[in-house]
Amino acid sequence: MRWVLCWLALLGMALPKAEAWSNKEHIQLTRVAAERLMADPTTPADMKQWLARAAAPLLDAAGERDYLLHKQVGLFPRGVDGILFWCTVPDMHAIADKPESKVDPFGVHEGKLHYIDLELFMSDPAQRTYADDLSHQPKPSDIPPDMADPRFKTAGMLPFRIEHAYGQMVKAIRDGRLDDAPGNYPRDEHAAKWAGYLAHYLEDNTQPHHATEDYKSRSYFPGIDSKQAPDIHADMEYRLVDDDRNDYADLRLALWDSFSEELRQLKDPVRTKNLWQATLEVSLISYDALPIIGRAAKIAYPQAGPDGPGRWNAEAFFQYTGQWRGEKLTVLKLKAKQWAWAVVRVEEVWRRAWEEARAGGR
Ligand SMILES: [Zn+2]
Repeated sequence: MRWVLCWLALLGMALPKAEAWSNKEHIQLTRVAAERLMADPTTPADMKQWLARAAAPLLDAAGERDYLLHKQVGLFPRGVDGILFWCTVPDMHAIADKPESKVDPFGVHEGKLHYIDLELFMSDPAQRTYADDLSHQPKPSDIPPDMADPRFKTAGMLPFRIEHAYGQMVKAIRDGRLDDAPGNYPRDEHAAKWAGYLAHYLEDNTQPHHATEDYKSRSYFPGIDSKQAPDIHADMEYRLVDDDRNDYADLRLALWDSFSEELRQLKDPVRTKNLWQATLEVSLISYDALPIIGRAAKIAYPQAGPDGPGRWNAEAFFQYTGQWRGEKLTVLKLKAKQWAWAVVRVEEVWRRAWEEARAGGR
């Protein structure tokens, strides 16, 4: 019993900032990226052979649809291996690593590698919190690509982590350590691990709540204690698709249709080849979606108050319509777009890693 309580205490301590996204979503988006690379005639043949092994078992479109509608995964993923297992590991570490533990070469806890709180780079200290009018959003030039800048210790180090995981994936491919195979020491330094890690962080990167200090949209519930306020981070990212108490059948179906449509047409707006800058650009673009999410949250929790959040109206939340980067869209459509963008970025960055390693230069 004591062990259970310790574990719960640890979860309680780490979850508010470290828990990032559901394992189900990471597994699905990562697998869809692999499936799309497999279906692409321009993907290198040896990369396809590796993906077929390292991301197995791959599904067809009907299988993915069924997975989204009905699969329950929870906090402890079962039945996945290779890349699809490794894409869940960063959150496992974020939750389970001791609070004082640090990840090399960043010098921060794993939990701080999943986000960047952009407001902390505003020069005026009074503007280092989220504002609904987006006036506290820094410019790219306000954020230096310098890991030694002490602000990153608080703000989070996602751009550095993505750059690092990419480099590790390239190195593993170049060294011929493609798979997690017995005798292939060091056992956990292989391309399957780093492809999984890289996918995880690239997917986190497209999520608006991973770019702000207001990572649960609490600013939309002023005067409500943090313990009693709704957790909009969970609502936006994973509650819809992996909830023990509800399958949200209609909303999941609408999400699947919207996600499929976005996957067919979405083009990555990020052009730079610099992965650090690209990560920052993705964070800044995703940040623009925070007002629509926060305003939807207020509608979805009409009873929120000092005694608690009250019931979540998922339909009201996801059907709320607002503006994002000049486009009128629902929160559900926004989620579908961010998902599709995550998949496309994983495809692009994995393929680039593969081609760079095979080209032998960097
Ligand atoms: Zn994460």
